[in-house]
Amino acid sequence: MGRFDGRVAVITGAARGIGLGVATRFAEEGASVAVVDLDESAAAESAAALPVAAGSSAKHTGIGADVGNGASVEAAIDRVVAELGGIHILMNNAGITRDNLLFKMTEDDWDLVMNVHLKGSFLMSKAAQKHFVAQKYGKIVNVSSTSALGNRGQANYSAAKMGLQGFTRTLGIELGPFGINVNAIAPGFIATEMTDATAARVGMSVEDFRKAAAEHNPVRRVGYPEDIAAAAAFLASDEASYITGQTLYVDGGVTLG
Ligand code: NAP
Repeated sequence: MGRFDGRVAVITGAARGIGLGVATRFAEEGASVAVVDLDESAAAESAAALPVAAGSSAKHTGIGADVGNGASVEAAIDRVVAELGGIHILMNNAGITRDNLLFKMTEDDWDLVMNVHLKGSFLMSKAAQKHFVAQKYGKIVNVSSTSALGNRGQANYSAAKMGLQGFTRTLGIELGPFGINVNAIAPGFIATEMTDATAARVGMSVEDFRKAAAEHNPVRRVGYPEDIAAAAAFLASDEASYITGQTLYVDGGVTLG
């Protein structure tokens, strides 16, 4: 008996990286999973490779959608309900970076990052909450970042990720009376294509970049999607039903100072 037997989980940006790690963990624990990502074929490929828990009737689907576009989001949620029979868990994970120092950051760099992280989480949560409120049950997990606390070259990303913490607290207040828990995870350095791309941008090899990141935190290793998946599985489970509005830092202690 898995913690998510009979549950439908929607995870954005889940074709790869952290989202795929979370999708895998939720599927292992019995959930039917909708992998939502920009590219429908990448989403479908990742969904097809997800495990189905033994003895479970779970099924998975891949859906192409842009979380920053209202019509696209509405269509995606409608498809989840039609194809998987409902929706119980939403993880707002889709993300991008457009890093630059303030004086070089363009209006587009700012708008793109706000659109995916903040507007995307708003639109997805708004579309999902209709179903959550009607059934008096739902779990939302937002993905913030240690960069919320400030990070050189990430004025846009940092503002969006701290914005998500306020968004999480506010939804916690508004949706708690309807049986809906809303929490956030703030990952530290997680080995994915996103951090590999940052390594390339600063002219370091992936290996050296990860080694440097590992040396900066008390547990002396980088994080992996599985580390975020373990925290997400807890927050999306009924074991966390008395926790809402919180941001859990999963960062190897890097923010401890
Ligand atoms: P990733 O490997 O780059 O994966 C992000 C996924 O999101 C990609 O598949 C991407 O699709 C998709 N995506 C981007 N824009 C989208 C949109 N508008 N609609 C739907 N999907 C979209 O990144 P990751 O490292 O797994 O990061 C996942 C989340 O964790 C992000 O919110 C990120 O900010 C956060 N985070 C990551 C780290 C880290 O160290 N990796 C640390 C803290 C927080 P395309 O490939 O087609 O663009």
